[in-house]
Amino acid sequence: MSIPAGRDHPPLAPLPVFSFILPAYNELMNIERVTSRLLAMAGQLGEPFEIIWIDDGSTDGSGELLDRLAAQDSCIRVLHFSRNFGHMAALTAGFETARATGAVICLDADGQHPPELIPAMIEQWKSGAEIVQMVRQKTADETPFKRLSSGIFYSLLNRLSDLDLPEGAADFRLLDRQAVDALNSLPERDRFIRGLVRWIGFRQTLLPYDAPPRMAGATKYSTRKMLLFAFDGITSFSIRPLRIIFYLGVAVIFITLLYALYVLGLLIAGGFRVPGWTSLILLIMMLNGIQLVTLGIVSEYMGRVFNESKQRPVYVLRKCTNPHR
Ligand code: UDP
Ligand code: MG
Repeated sequence: MSIPAGRDHPPLAPLPVFSFILPAYNELMNIERVTSRLLAMAGQLGEPFEIIWIDDGSTDGSGELLDRLAAQDSCIRVLHFSRNFGHMAALTAGFETARATGAVICLDADGQHPPELIPAMIEQWKSGAEIVQMVRQKTADETPFKRLSSGIFYSLLNRLSDLDLPEGAADFRLLDRQAVDALNSLPERDRFIRGLVRWIGFRQTLLPYDAPPRMAGATKYSTRKMLLFAFDGITSFSIRPLRIIFYLGVAVIFITLLYALYVLGLLIAGGFRVPGWTSLILLIMMLNGIQLVTLGIVSEYMGRVFNESKQRPVYVLRKCTNPHR
């Protein structure tokens, strides 16, 4: 039995096999070049695909440029955020919107994740990997500060949480449809995607690559944003800092007991002398410091509970260009 062709409706475009998602925050100078490199690469794949740009509240005209590109090519879709919600929110929107039946690939807008490497990722996917994580070996224009801070971040994160993130595992990866569905089903609002992707499991393959310098513009991760990002990563994947506080408390009590014994000994031996202002002040300051840090760490977790309990959406859309029917 054949199904009669619909008369009133235009034929539905086939679902894409691949979705490429690219977050952009003020990337005016990079967008066109990355899009044309991506189109050139994707044209060789021989499968239908879509490109989803997320304009994360850009103020430099990136949004308008993206709309012009979308008008020229119906496989380009653009999600416009109502303001800057951040890289993780943009990726979340991309994963939620991607319709790919095969795999979703996310990459940065600045050319540091070369689209030319995507066929190698797809190769790994075809041979059974459900997640292909690109791992940066070296970055051409990396400052010593960024290298050091990234090293500290990854070793701290891995030590404090049960995650095992290789250093340089940034947001350049391929996810099988099933993995994307799993990621989308995680309800949390604070979305540290690198950790979530590790957490969902599946067969993950690491693929090393050398990152070229940013094509144009400056990094959108200020030191402040990087610090927040690090806090996010650690506190959303580990409660070990809370346990450390407990051990710290036990250690302080133990030391105090030892000191009490010492003072008692002095009293008995008759060598007790009143002057002790310096040690007293030092002790008080030290203990106050420990208490404040403790309070800070506890508040960090409480803040996360507060954020989650508000149940606000991760992002707000202003409009969507070329939405699928
Ligand atoms: N980005 C974003 N929103 C932000 C910050 C960054 O969408 O608030 C995008 C940015 O446009 C780029 C990607 O996230 O496509 C990575 O940012 P960037 O290249 O500045 O980070 P770096 O490579 O320096 O770590
Ligand atoms: Mg970059």
